[in-house]
Amino acid sequence: MRHSVTLLPGDGVGPEICDATVRVLEATGVEFDWDVQQAGEAAIAEFGTPLPEQVLASIRKNKVALKGPITTPIGSGFRSVNVSLRQQLDLFALVRPIKAYKGARNLRDDLDFVIVRENTEDIYAGLEFELGTPDCEHLITEISGLLKKTIRPDSGLSIKSISVSGTKRIVEFAFDYARKNKRRKVTAVHKANIMKHTDGLFLAVARQVAEKNPDIEFEDRIVDNMCMQLVLRPKEYDVLCCPNLYGDIISDLGAGMIGGLGLAPGANIGTNGAVFEATHGSAPKYAGQNKVNPMAVMLSGVLMLRHLEEVAAADALEGAIAQVIAIGKNVTYDLKEKRGDTTAVGTSQVADAIVAQLKAGA
Ligand code: NAD
Repeated sequence: MRHSVTLLPGDGVGPEICDATVRVLEATGVEFDWDVQQAGEAAIAEFGTPLPEQVLASIRKNKVALKGPITTPIGSGFRSVNVSLRQQLDLFALVRPIKAYKGARNLRDDLDFVIVRENTEDIYAGLEFELGTPDCEHLITEISGLLKKTIRPDSGLSIKSISVSGTKRIVEFAFDYARKNKRRKVTAVHKANIMKHTDGLFLAVARQVAEKNPDIEFEDRIVDNMCMQLVLRPKEYDVLCCPNLYGDIISDLGAGMIGGLGLAPGANIGTNGAVFEATHGSAPKYAGQNKVNPMAVMLSGVLMLRHLEEVAAADALEGAIAQVIAIGKNVTYDLKEKRGDTTAVGTSQVADAIVAQLKAGA
């Protein structure tokens, strides 16, 4: 069966790592019709907006997209395309597996846990009020009056909102994911001791959902403790269900534990579509240099193959990537012990090695 997939090459290093990923995905033998769409800087130049309507229309039609990282222009007035895409397509769950591959610069070699991050609300929702604006001043006065607490007048405001419905669906998703992927436990991550009406609500709803899923173990951790636990006792954790901001931060912690951003994949999942992308950004200083690691996008491609129920191809591609990491010869600079290692290869050579590995295994 052929699959129609929207391809967003993105900005910075995006086009080269997506190119390398398309090559290895096609080398699995699965057939794709790629619908290439521009978002980000290229789209601003051509259409005057970083997220043209045809990009959303293409993903809505194909229901699956592979995406390179997109730069968020600072001070241009444009919001993050990555955040808008997730919100506009209601891709409410961001799944980020943290898995140690043998030969990578892992904190330990037995790491295998999954972050399920809520993707649409929390402090990320863009409810922002700029210092000194009439709206911000008005809100400061209103809130100060309501709470009988002083907010310093020289403050900016970001509003954190967490809903019952948003929490219910992400925790249900985490339990469903755990069951489908033979995981034993879901841990809700929060700071309910301080933020009682947002994180406290998240925890209360998570407990209610857990009661309806007695076949999967449930517990909760306060986010700061969670970070320490992950470093000291990661084997005790399996699926971490996090509100948006904590999920973001723990994702990079997890990436660091498995040797860096070059190996950290992700899947944004909603009811009507899924967008697969690496955790890392567009690394603009390396753009066009055939230098960075394409494996995070390739591993996102593995998640996409699983989503498309191409299980054999997913296993083959993941195995080939793991083999290339284990051999350690055809890997980029970030997987080498020393940064200046001159034996490091470039982005496209990594793809060559994985394609050769796939052919050898076929
Ligand atoms: P970044 O992830 O792009 O890069 C940080 C550093 O990590 C790089 O300088 C590089 O040393 C390393 N790195 C990243 N990817 C790598 C790879 N594949 N191989 C080897 N090393 C790699 O983060 P940043 O510099 O904070 O962000 C750059 C831009 O990307 C910003 O505009 C940001 O908004 C955007 N961004 C986009 C996404 C996304 O598209 N989902 C995610 C994060 C950041």
